[in-house]
Amino acid sequence: MSENLTTAWALAWIAGAQVAIAERRMELIDLDRAIGDGDHGENMDRGFKAVVAKLDAGSPDVASVLKLVAATLMSTVGGASGPLYGTAFLRASKAASENEMDANGVAAMIAAALEGVVARGKATTGEKTMVDAWTPALAAAQEVAAAGGSATEALRAAANAAQAGAEATIPMLATKGRASYLGERSIGHQDPGATSTALLLATAADAAEAQ
Ligand code: ADP
Ligand code: MG
Repeated sequence: MSENLTTAWALAWIAGAQVAIAERRMELIDLDRAIGDGDHGENMDRGFKAVVAKLDAGSPDVASVLKLVAATLMSTVGGASGPLYGTAFLRASKAASENEMDANGVAAMIAAALEGVVARGKATTGEKTMVDAWTPALAAAQEVAAAGGSATEALRAAANAAQAGAEATIPMLATKGRASYLGERSIGHQDPGATSTALLLATAADAAEAQ
């Protein structure tokens, strides 16, 4: 698949993300129960249901879809993840408005999302947060873009890398966010936010492959 991503892709992605998050709500709750306060699955489910309720099939472009997602997540998702994902989608929206939606555009969106998360949360890699999923996702997308791959290939590589990144949080000691209060007891559990990031990127790749 060599075509660029379209507005239909963005709409299908967010609709698919809502379904996947609803299906994995309990898993995200259980992960957050282990090292946080147990609300991550609920937060994400509430946020994406609100997003889908507002999604307008007449959205003019990818950027405006992502901007709506950002604003809705900011206002409906509590906790740390609402502002983090809100900022990520807002920055990604800006990148989408400034780039062609090819593999380089995918890398630019992921770079912008990661920058937004870091600007908000001040975490670096290895602190057991969603940064540990976004960072390898960016490297993977950039690698596909540099090799001349498609937007779809970049998204799939990013999704796979984010999944591996989320799994790699298991042995980490949390030093940011609520999980850091647990100290050593945070070790041995997968980070919920890194898990939802991998899920979001996987649904983005699914929607691109179906486009
Ligand atoms: P809360 O921690 O307020 O209950 P959520 O449970 O919705 O919020 O989200 C928790 C997730 O947010 C964590 O698993 C982690 O991935 C992410 N997170 C928390 N703090 C930070 C931070 N400072 N930087 C990046 N990600 C963070
Ligand atoms: Mg929580």
